Formats: sequence, C-alpha cells, structure tokens
Amino acid sequence: MKNKLETDVQFLPGVGPRRASLLRSELEVSTIGDLLHLFPFRYIDRSSIQKIADIRSTGSYVQILGEVTALELTGQGNRQRLSVIVRDSSGEMELVFFKATKYIAERLRKGSVFLFFGKPSTFNGKLNMVHPEIDAPPSEGAANYPGVLTGVYPSTEKLRNGGITGKVMNRLMSAAIEYAIPDIAETLPEYILREKGLPPLRYAIRNIHFPSDQTALAKAQYRLKWEELFLLQLSLVKQKYIRSRASTGIVMPNVGEAFNACYKALPYDLTGAQKRVIKEIRSDMMSGRQMNRLLQGDVGSGKTMVAVLSALLAVGNGAQACIMAPTEVLARQHYLNISRYLAPTGVACSLLIGSTTKAERKPILKGLEDGSIGIIIGTHALIEDPVIFRNLGLAVIDEQHRFGVEQRSRLWAKGRDGIPPHVLVMTATPIPRTLAMTLYGDLDVSVIDEMPPGRKPVKTILIGEGKKPVLYNFMKNQIAKGRQVFIVYPLIFESEKMDYRNLEAGYEEIVTRFPLPQYKVAIVHGQQTSEVKKLNMDAFAAGRADILVSTTVIEVGVDVPNATVIVIESAERFGLAQLHQLRGRVGRGSDESFCVLVHGNKVSKESQKRLELMCATENGFDLAEEDLKMRGPGDLEGTQQSGLPIDLKIASLSHDGQILSDARLYAEHILSADPTLSATENAPLLNELRKDKYIIRDFSVIS
Ligand code: ADP
Ligand code: MG
Repeated sequence: MKNKLETDVQFLPGVGPRRASLLRSELEVSTIGDLLHLFPFRYIDRSSIQKIADIRSTGSYVQILGEVTALELTGQGNRQRLSVIVRDSSGEMELVFFKATKYIAERLRKGSVFLFFGKPSTFNGKLNMVHPEIDAPPSEGAANYPGVLTGVYPSTEKLRNGGITGKVMNRLMSAAIEYAIPDIAETLPEYILREKGLPPLRYAIRNIHFPSDQTALAKAQYRLKWEELFLLQLSLVKQKYIRSRASTGIVMPNVGEAFNACYKALPYDLTGAQKRVIKEIRSDMMSGRQMNRLLQGDVGSGKTMVAVLSALLAVGNGAQACIMAPTEVLARQHYLNISRYLAPTGVACSLLIGSTTKAERKPILKGLEDGSIGIIIGTHALIEDPVIFRNLGLAVIDEQHRFGVEQRSRLWAKGRDGIPPHVLVMTATPIPRTLAMTLYGDLDVSVIDEMPPGRKPVKTILIGEGKKPVLYNFMKNQIAKGRQVFIVYPLIFESEKMDYRNLEAGYEEIVTRFPLPQYKVAIVHGQQTSEVKKLNMDAFAAGRADILVSTTVIEVGVDVPNATVIVIESAERFGLAQLHQLRGRVGRGSDESFCVLVHGNKVSKESQKRLELMCATENGFDLAEEDLKMRGPGDLEGTQQSGLPIDLKIASLSHDGQILSDARLYAEHILSADPTLSATENAPLLNELRKDKYIIRDFSVIS
C-alpha cells in the first residue's frame, strides 16, 4: 500500500480540490507529507489570559476573557464597522470588525463571555483590537484545547479568503497527524538518536505542531533543526571527500630558494596568523591532492604576503603561479607591490591585463609558455584562450566573489597534463563561520584572524546631511595637514541613471566647495574608459589629487596610505560588509583615520541600527554575523549570485550556529568512519541524501 504521506492533500477531510489547489499554489503543499513538514513559525500560549488593564500596544499578541457590554454597527455595504465593547474585572476595551460584521454581531450577544485573541493597537489614543479571533471560554476544569501552545502557520490573503484560516490550519494538521503518523518513518539511524539524545521523528512531528508543553516543543525543534543541518552538512562533506580523493594535485615537496630569499628580506615579521596559514597551504601543496582553499582575512590583514609566499612555493617546485585580481586597478597595484617583494628572489614577474598592448603582450605570452616568467599577475585576461602556461602549479584568486563559475573552470583547464593547479581563493568579505560552512562546505577554509601590529583604529562617525558644512571644514583641515580624502557614492545598480546623477551632483558640489587651484579633485566610476580611470586613480595614489570622488570601484584593495578620511554618502544604502570593506581603504598609514557615514533624510530604524553598529565595532566578522542576523543570508553580500544551496525549513543559519557546528562535526565523524555511507546502520542516511534537495548545485566549486 502507498505510504500515507504521499496521499494528495485534497483527500484530507476539510480540504477538497479547491483548497488543495490553494495549498499547492500558496504554500507548495501537495501531499499530506508536505503538509506535515510545514512548520509553525510561532506559537501562541492559549493558557495565559491577560487583564485588560495590563495590556499595552507593544505589537505582541494578547488573549483576554471578556464579557460583551455593547455593540454598535455603523456604515453600509462593504464599509461597515462593528464596534464591540468588552470588559473584564480590570477594565474595558473596544474590538473592531470590518468583515463578516453581521455574523459576528449575532454571535457576540450582549452579556455573553468569550476569549478574544489578537494584537492590540492604539487608535485615537485608546486601546483597541482589530479582528481578534473569537473562541468560546474554556470550560471549568478540562481545557477544550488540543494543547497549551497553538502553532501559527505561514498564511496569505488568498489562503484566508479561501477559508484556510489559522484555526482551519490547526484542524488540518491535527487530521493529518492522526491519519499519517504511523507511516512516518524514522530518518536518522537509531545510534544517532541515542548518541545525540534526539527524540524520534514521530514525536518531533507531533510536538512541532501540537506541543504538549514548552519542553516537548524545544525537544522537537532541536531534533528537526539538527537533522536539517546535519543532512546538509553530511551531503557537503561527502562531496568534499569524493572530490579530494578524485583530484590528484601536483606534489610540491620543496620550499625553494626564492621563498627563503623573499622571507629573509621581509621588512617585518609575519604575524602568527600569516605563518599558520602559510603552513596550512604548504601542507596542502605537498599532499598530492589538489588544494582548494578559501583564505579569509579582514582588510589589511596581510593576505598579499601570503599569496606571494605561496606563489614562491610553487616556483620553488618548478611550477608557475598566477595571481588574479578583479579589476585592472587592483591588478596593477598588486603588480607594483609584489614586484618589490620579489626583487630579492630573481623570480620574473609580469602583468597581463585587458589593456596590455599587443606589443607588450607578445613577450609575456612567450615567457608564460616557455616558463621564463615564474609569476604572472593580472585580471581574467589571464585565463583567456591565447594564454598558455608551461606548468601552472598555483592560481591565487583575490576577491573570489567577482569570479564566475565559468571563469574558474577555464582556469582549471590551464594546468599541465590534465592535472589542475592548486587553487587559493582570497576574500576580505568576512563570511560568518556558519555561512562559510554551508556555502563553502566542501572547501577548506583558512582565516587570518590577526592584524599586523601598529594599525591604528579608524574612527567612525555617523552624521546627517545637515552636518555637511562641518564635514567640509573637517576635510579642509585634514587636507591642510597633507592628507587625502575618499568620497564614495552608492552605485547599487550599475545601469541606474539615478545613481550616476547623484554621483555627478556630488562631484559638482565638491568641486564648488573645494575649488582650484587650492584643491584638486579626481573622479572615478564604472562608466569611464580604463585610461581615464587609471589617470584619475594614479593622480590620487601619487598625491596629486586631494579628494577622490568615486563609486564603489575603490572598494577592494586600493592602497593609498596617505588617505585618512573616507566619506560614505547615503551610507544606509550599503550593506555592513560593504561599508566595512570601504572603511578598510583608510587607516593604512600611521596617521589617525576617519570614516564618516552620511545618512539620507529618511532612514529606517533598522538602517540606523546597522550604521550605529558600524561606529561601534571594527571587527569584520562581528559585522558580518550581525549583517546575517539583520538581513538574512540571502542578502548577504557576496552570496547574492550564489544564494544558499538549499532552502532551510526550520533551522536558521543566523541563529542556529551552535547546532550547525555540532552537526558539522558529527557529519565529519560519521564520514571518516564510513565515507560512502555503505554500512547497514547508515542506510537511512544514504537514502535521505538521494532526495533531490540534497543534490546540491555546487556553487562553490572553484575548480
Ligand atoms: P589585505 O589582506 O587587505 O590584502 P595587504 O596584504 O594589502 O592586506 O596588507 C596590508 C598592509 O599591511 C600592507 O601595507 C602590508 O605591507 C602590511 N603588512 C602585511 N603583513 C604585515 C606584517 N606581518 N607586519 C606588518 N605589516 C604587514
Ligand atoms: Mg588585498
């Protein structure tokens, strides 16, 4: 016989074809099993009854037990308004109804007592409640409620109009449970339930819908969240295992003279974190397996040095390395810095970008093909077809989220004899651990969690438009001291004309306030040709311009140590992670630096909170965690293109980090003993992973 969970939901008493089609279109519920996996997002405690006098309109739900003392029906047709006054021993309040007024007026007879449940609000200075739910009062002794806590399910206007109200939903769930619970099969092996102290699935499903009490609810929620995150991690870690066994990598046992020469000549000691990360990379490169490592490090944490030393490890083993940046400006800057580090090593290094001329290009292509160029720095021009490497052993990708999957696979094909190069992806966008584990669950992650000594904190200030004159004076003072200033405008949508108008208007204003010949203002944005961009950037970098007005093109990596002020216009339009990136443009020199966030006139409470947080902390990971909590993972910068690999039904990456870590460790533990999940006791797991949702589109494959 068919599993009852697969029964079409329309056959559930109280549903039928019309409601079934609503459930399908509004909630993606087709079967009884789907219905049982639609979980409440909130619970109401029906056992607690408030006194009217104690109620405040704080936005939370209340329940009162009141006697109807007066009714008044006003208005006509569909503009009717029913006002009902109820009272308890402490006071009275008004209930208001706009729909089904006749029916409700008949039910709420004067002198009768009901339970009313709803959200109080204030109208004309008086407390009232609009369209509360109405229930018969609890009878003495035996409560006529299925449980103390009642689940509230996601709902839509269409559902409510179609008769599927909250109460109906509870009834359907109850029927579904009675009908199908014996057919719910346990998804986790016995031993996991035992070791992890989790309740059985049947218990969890029953209690997530109809908790017998708070403890039962907590147990049910924990079990379902744990399972969801565990299966996700299990599928990710399993993929990683399969890949790491399948992918052979170039074995690089040597350190090499070039590495040592560079290391000895360093003008500073590496931080502990830099040393640790280089060790991790070296051990990957020696292992015989292809390295696939994500290196996270806050802005200014010294990732470039790690890239250089890793590249030299490859060179020390007779291979070549490439370092790719997302923009030409950055590639050029990397080239200048890195050439300096390489001077004592004698390793040949070149720059290849889109604007490299044909004449310049020829010897570079030749040098890459014959192996005389050891390290090449560039943009994605590097992975285009005409570029042939003699022996590419390592690819470093700076600011990973700007590289598409397709570009990565082209890079992959540049290895010799079909052996892929080792890959190191560097990002300054701090990805919270929980998210990294999920998005990059099959990559290894290294973190530089220590800043080079001597970095001064950046003072962050939040101001309104009205404070602009004060800001301009402050900028003039800084410029008088010989410092430089960045001014950044949001450019959220590359093509949006509005944004360019803002930028241009801003530029006009700055040029007027900071006139020639005393002040020089440069401007950089995405619609300029790369020559014009370079001209302006260079002028600012070389100190010939005092102010650089720009869009976020300066976001990543640009290094002008003499710039001490960054002004961010319409700061509320940026995400925290992006603001943090921008702030990292200053504070690179020895002078005290400032980040001024200018907010627009209308700022939501939430934006205000985010901006205040920016002022309060400089820790990129804390900000990223906070961003995740406030905006949800879908909005998190750098993940927009990829999104989450699967929809989570009950767990939350922002709130269930602890459970996620535990589930991750446990998944690793199980797979280390049984990598293919072929043990009999793990059969249920293998079965679960075969389901569509765990066949994850692999966004994070960089190779
Ligand atoms: P990011 O991680 O943002 O790419 P960079 O590699 O550009 O950071 O380094 C930022 C600055 O810190 C550079 O000027 C670099 O020379 C300097 N730096 C890097 N490592 C150290 C260190 N161990 N001690 C002192 N300064 C360092
Ligand atoms: Mg960098």
